Amino acid sequence: MDADARPASPSPRDLPSVDQVLKTPAGQRAIEDHGRAPATAAIRAALDGVRARLLAHRLAALPSPDHVALAATEALEHGARSRLRPVFNLTGTVLHTNLGRALLAEEAVAAATSAMRAAVALEYDLSTGTRGERDDHVRGLLIELTGAEDATIVNNNAAAVLLVLNSLGLDREAVVSRGELIEIGGAFRMPDIMARAGVKLVEVGTTNRTHPKDYAGALTEATGLVLKVHTSNYRIEGFTSEVPARELAAIAHARGVPLVNDLGSGTLVDLARLGLAHEPTVREAVAEGADIVTFSGDKLLGGPQTGFIVGNKDLIAAINANPMKRALRVDKIRLAALEATLRLYRDPERLAARLPTLRLLARTRADIAARAHELVEPLAAALGEAFDIEIVDCASQIGSGALPLETLPSAAFAIRPAAEASGGRLNALAAALRALPVPIVGRINEGALILDLRCLEDEAGFLDSLAHIRVPA
Ligand SMILES: *Cc1c(COP(=O)(O)O)cnc(C)c1O
Repeated sequence: MDADARPASPSPRDLPSVDQVLKTPAGQRAIEDHGRAPATAAIRAALDGVRARLLAHRLAALPSPDHVALAATEALEHGARSRLRPVFNLTGTVLHTNLGRALLAEEAVAAATSAMRAAVALEYDLSTGTRGERDDHVRGLLIELTGAEDATIVNNNAAAVLLVLNSLGLDREAVVSRGELIEIGGAFRMPDIMARAGVKLVEVGTTNRTHPKDYAGALTEATGLVLKVHTSNYRIEGFTSEVPARELAAIAHARGVPLVNDLGSGTLVDLARLGLAHEPTVREAVAEGADIVTFSGDKLLGGPQTGFIVGNKDLIAAINANPMKRALRVDKIRLAALEATLRLYRDPERLAARLPTLRLLARTRADIAARAHELVEPLAAALGEAFDIEIVDCASQIGSGALPLETLPSAAFAIRPAAEASGGRLNALAAALRALPVPIVGRINEGALILDLRCLEDEAGFLDSLAHIRVPA
């Protein structure tokens, strides 16, 4: 305590009143910034804290009203911070599910913002003045970009798979290869989704090999659909065999059964153009004869969270007629962002520049390393003598199960404690970076904190945030 504190043996009865604290300059400012009720509650909580410490004999002196007001203000400011605030994703995973996956294009942000502020013709046909369909805003674009006959959208791809299975396979069987019964993360496991969709799972083949005759032998009167699942997040290598989609479509169609292909990430452009490995495009999956193709909006496509269902017109009509569709539908904000995102695909030449996901995936190591060299000095100044910083080569990942074995050459800061120190120092630094106004999220690997700069575009913002760091002693 400083000069304000009174020396005599303190008693809780001598604490300032809530009113006294509210009347201090800091108390008045707290009312102005946060409102009277929150300010009063925060001061009461601060006083309760002081009282408890006095009773536990853990305070030698009474705090002044100003002190209490400042403590309350700090708590108010901490509580006023958004829980869902932006962070710098320097993890090296571009589509990081825990950090919200794809960043939206400016065009999508603008469209979503204007849809939030105003009434929109969501289910209203402006040419006739009658009721319209909410999916119609993106239906045409999806047909154009995928070559499918028809399209519909839902909340996410998990919902798309659930709705398709329930619409086409309720109380019937779905035939799937044992090599494709995947878990995506969280609680999305194919067998569980099937059970909840009311579909009976019929597994065929083995983990590593499934043949045409395995499928053909499993198709019966009770079969509702054949399901092919893109094994997004893992690869089986070595002695393997799967039935190509085109052949599987022929087997299914010979028995009058639809083929559903869950592509997962599902890109609309050939990633080989960006120097990445080829990932099957939605157009290819449609052309290979799948009757229904499902894929995500916020993975490689680079849009808002959405699940796409494209394919055969009659099947899409049946899917739209399922009452579950209403429970899984997309709101106007995302629909606006989605339409704007899909429009960008009409201009492939400028796509990689305008769509953040593709722009970040396309960045070269040389470009990223050049930025690292520009930033290393200010970073070193912010961290002081206690840490050594090195610019190192690293490998970024795409994330969200897209091309799991594919990495992208990138550059990173590798930060280590300068002196021989316990691992605690590095964890403390990582925590200090996460406590910044715009938290910086990296990863710890082999005794170093790695900050992969692939996803850093706002360098000025990065330095502004870094200026607030409290470097652990
Ligand atoms: C990611 C993924 C899903 C789930 O999609 P969400 O958009 O995350 O709901 C389903 N199937 C496959 C193959 C996936 O990769």
